[in-house]
Amino acid sequence: MPTDAPSLEARLAARGISRRQFLKFCGVLAATLALPEAYAPKIAHALETTPRLPVVWLEFQDCAGNTESFLRASTPTVAEIVLEQISLDYHETIMAPAGHAAEKSLEAVLAGSQPFLAIVEGSIPTKDGGIYCTIGGKTAQSIAETVCRKAAATIAVGACAWDGGWPGASPNPTGAVGVKSAVPGLKTLVNMPGCPMNVTNLTAVLAHFLAFKAMPALDQEGRPLFAYGQLIHNNCERRGHFDAGRFVETWGDDGHRLGYCLYKMGCKGPQTYSNCPAIGWNDGTSWPIGAGHGCVGCMSSHFWDNTIPVYERLPHIEGFGVEATADKVGLTALGVVAAGVTVHAVASAIRAKNSPEAPHDEREVAVQTPPKKK
Ligand code: SF4
Repeated sequence: MPTDAPSLEARLAARGISRRQFLKFCGVLAATLALPEAYAPKIAHALETTPRLPVVWLEFQDCAGNTESFLRASTPTVAEIVLEQISLDYHETIMAPAGHAAEKSLEAVLAGSQPFLAIVEGSIPTKDGGIYCTIGGKTAQSIAETVCRKAAATIAVGACAWDGGWPGASPNPTGAVGVKSAVPGLKTLVNMPGCPMNVTNLTAVLAHFLAFKAMPALDQEGRPLFAYGQLIHNNCERRGHFDAGRFVETWGDDGHRLGYCLYKMGCKGPQTYSNCPAIGWNDGTSWPIGAGHGCVGCMSSHFWDNTIPVYERLPHIEGFGVEATADKVGLTALGVVAAGVTVHAVASAIRAKNSPEAPHDEREVAVQTPPKKK
């Protein structure tokens, strides 16, 4: 950052954002990162004093949904100011230079001595020598190889950059894969799946990197634990209805209007790990389940192949009419948590069916507690 560039404090003031608001936002970032509140001042100090971090954003086979998510912070938000602490030195979709001038920008970053961060969006085709995605005459794979190997850390944003996403869905004509397969053995690779990833989580990861010079704790898949460590089902606002056996049976029915559980409508929340219920989307305005649509499992591995059809409910236990996904999955991927889901689901169904008030038509079992007002 040039020495005469306005400070973060000055830029916040220029946009009418008070220091109190900024500190409050740093508290939210600390909470998002599952850090104690005491870390908020440390994050604030780091954001105020750390020089801008150069970032190279590579975009390959995708729909640009993660770029859209990145740009969709409402204006002007504190998050937007924080994101200004990175210097987006190369991003084909939004950078001013084009063609050779754009490629020169990338070459300059690569030739420089300053550490930079690589953010990769989109899948990388590997079939037929990678010819299905080339930029400036180079294949996506060779560009990713060059940039990610040199970067201080790489963040793969979105389902496509994680495991190939929709370009990699069956029959995967281009041999599309994610960064972890295209550039194996990267020392610091953070995977942020989702279709798209949630920009609040990306902001938190960047703030963590700026504040602590390291990425947040990751799970065995390289995903930040703070964002992908909890089942959606365990924190869902409709969970009480699930436990009570109150389900939406058809779109627009009474249960749907009352905010009942969407399990029977194909919700994949019981097998999807994400902090969506806690942080929401669009600046926390809402999220899919909050808006009345089941989770499609877009944070899950190869979800285009594994969680489709969206509205088809997962296999159920004959006679109970309640999803038994966890019964099957719980023995493998979900372990104890999923087993708990099965017990809950079955027990809820039994309770509902055996209840003295329960009518024979299970669709009418669900009564009757209005959802909490938001
Ligand atoms: S099944 Fe879906 S809607 Fe129902 S409680 Fe679980 S996550 Fe929420």
